[in-house]
Amino acid sequence: MRDLAVRRIDFGCFVRPPEDIGFVVDCHLHFDHCGGNPALAGRPVFTQRAELEAALHTPDYTLTELVDAPGLPYERLDSEAEILPDVVVMPTPGHTAGHQSLIVRQPDGTVIVAGRRGNRVRSRRAGLAGAP
Ligand SMILES: [Zn+2]
Repeated sequence: MRDLAVRRIDFGCFVRPPEDIGFVVDCHLHFDHCGGNPALAGRPVFTQRAELEAALHTPDYTLTELVDAPGLPYERLDSEAEILPDVVVMPTPGHTAGHQSLIVRQPDGTVIVAGRRGNRVRSRRAGLAGAP
């Protein structure tokens, strides 16, 4: 699993070394979005409760062993939550019922990390982010 984390860093998914990462916010728990989580064991993983339940109990939803890996302390959210000052996790259902996005407010502006908010390439090409 350690090698997987390094590859993710090489692709730019992380901008800091894994040792510097203090918590995890996955937009949803399909395997292609949570595959690096086991390499970050020990860090709180903020997720919507509905997403975690779906990932753990819906057949073929994801690779359950990635979600249920040892050392992943899930912080289950049921709505919007400010997890750090000016860092908010917001439910954005669409791609999955428990999908969430991250809002980071900084002095020079607000950044929204929307994750996999849109479902179809067609909707992205048309600029219709969020279309089902
Ligand atoms: Zn997905």
